Amino acid sequence: MGKKAQISSVLRNTNKPALSAQDLANELDVSVNTINNHVSEMVENGRIETAQIGNAAAYYIPFDDLPPHKKPEHTCHKCGHTTDGYDFAKVEYDTYFEDGSTEESIADFYILCRPCYSDFVSWAYGDIGSMQEYPRVHSYDISEKQLFELRDDPDVPTTPDLASLDDDRREVYDLIAELGGDEGITLREIQSRADEHQEIFVPKKSTLRKLSEQGYLYKTLGGVSMKYIAAK
Ligand SMILES: [Zn+2]
Repeated sequence: MGKKAQISSVLRNTNKPALSAQDLANELDVSVNTINNHVSEMVENGRIETAQIGNAAAYYIPFDDLPPHKKPEHTCHKCGHTTDGYDFAKVEYDTYFEDGSTEESIADFYILCRPCYSDFVSWAYGDIGSMQEYPRVHSYDISEKQLFELRDDPDVPTTPDLASLDDDRREVYDLIAELGGDEGITLREIQSRADEHQEIFVPKKSTLRKLSEQGYLYKTLGGVSMKYIAAK
């Protein structure tokens, strides 16, 4: 991950509303100069925002950086993904700056997509370690685009807890993972493979449905029929 991506990631994960260049330098174990070299360009590109807090500039991920005409009502205020018709939450919370100033707390409403809401809940419960980890993301009702972005991001764990599957369901999961890979496979395709190879079996529809509900499999339209993709 490049420095800019690391800075973004730290800012997304922090439980503070904003971080100074010094905070970022400490977090990433680099010099303040290195941070400064990157943040100005990131501010220029709109990837992050900056605010003067006391004597220092602080940086944060913009919540509200889209102009009104570009901002549909259901846009996640944290990551910008569309939530229209998908899982989303409206949250209200206080933001404050820990700079010892007399700045009032500001209560605000935010629309958050399901993954960002999950981060918010983790943060609110002090479970910082669970932020940016979505073991059930394959069962979330989010756009396929967003799912695959998360799934393909090596820094975001999205694998469900495979140890808690019983043998039967694990066998089905493994079968789909092996036959379907990232592209997925339809029941009909499994059937024709099973006709050719004795060791391949056709899973029960009820098992496939359970595994999909629990986020072990992802169901997507593959032509005219459903395609199953193993969560990874
Ligand atoms: Zn989001």
